[in-house]
Amino acid sequence: MLESSPGGARRQPLSDPFGRGITYLRVSVTDRCDFRCVYCMSEDMTFLPRKDLLTLEELDRVCSAFVRLGVRKLRLTGGEPLVRRGIMDLFRNLGRHLRSGDLDELTVTTNGSQLARYADELYEAGVRRVNVSLDTLDPDRFRAITRWGRFGQVMDGLRAAKEAGLGIKINAVALKGVNEDELDRMVEWCGEQGFDLTFIEVMPMGDVGDDRLDQYLPLSLVRSRLAQTWTLEESAYRTGGPARYFNVRETGGRLGFITPLTHNFCESCNRVRMTCTGTLYMCLGQQDSADLREVVRNSESDAPLDEAIREAISRKPKGHDFVIDRRRGRISVPRHMSVTGG
Ligand code: SAM
Ligand code: SF4
Repeated sequence: MLESSPGGARRQPLSDPFGRGITYLRVSVTDRCDFRCVYCMSEDMTFLPRKDLLTLEELDRVCSAFVRLGVRKLRLTGGEPLVRRGIMDLFRNLGRHLRSGDLDELTVTTNGSQLARYADELYEAGVRRVNVSLDTLDPDRFRAITRWGRFGQVMDGLRAAKEAGLGIKINAVALKGVNEDELDRMVEWCGEQGFDLTFIEVMPMGDVGDDRLDQYLPLSLVRSRLAQTWTLEESAYRTGGPARYFNVRETGGRLGFITPLTHNFCESCNRVRMTCTGTLYMCLGQQDSADLREVVRNSESDAPLDEAIREAISRKPKGHDFVIDRRRGRISVPRHMSVTGG
């Protein structure tokens, strides 16, 4: 199907072997972060040497190649994308694709710590919505979960984002015994603030030192508990990803559940992910990848890059392989979320 746009003529998106059009690219722009969330990183993470990272110019070049090949939505993530030096230049430059009509949406997933500083600039660059990760409304718990984060700083960031006119979706990882008693309150608070909210099931990615089975809280349970307080009306809203959405009648807010372990969302998958070193993963739950950094660094012409992207998409697998090995508590995908970008 050819996509149409208010701006320019739409490009036919690249199609994978299962006929899924690839219209969404998520890019991790750094593996570094100013927080150390317990489910995401160990406290003593080793980060990549800077020379391994794509430069901001290289990131622009690769993102622009994807836009040329039909990607309509770009999300910058990390690590914490807003701690990368010069990152606003990348947002501003990518904004040209919004103005030309080649891109529908440029967006970011952030922990919110730098939003007070950057909210206005993000809006000026063309960003209209941000995802902010926040697992608790309790400052002490926030400190325990993020290890290094400051709750007040994130609240200031959210306020600034709202004032700048950015739409806000809160992402909260549901953690057994940690924030499960607060999830009702979060639905209420997001309703009051005018924020959408999505709960995420903890995923088996990377060794973070804690036992995954201790953190795992099935969202089916969360949903049935919430349904005792809230009227959850199933929504037709879809993003092609692993989220199912509901409208909360009492608050008027949208509530999503991302359940990669308990539901199969792969049939509608429209996305690929690139790490900050230019490694393209065709599936969040699989190891197969393509090295775009070598291609970018070896040629000034964009033709080899376009060809490498086409070739990678032709290898996109049908589905993922997440498993928590319950006997040994082992994980099935060894990279950290901060590498692939959530
Ligand atoms: N630093 C930014 C942030 O926290 O929003 C962007 C990167 S972070 C890796 C993206 C999302 O992945 C966050 O919402 C985070 O809560 C989520 N995440 C990280 N590790 C996870 C895990 N093991 N299971 C489920 N979600 C995870
Ligand atoms: Fe940093 Fe985001 Fe990972 Fe937390 S979830 S450690 S904020 S990258």
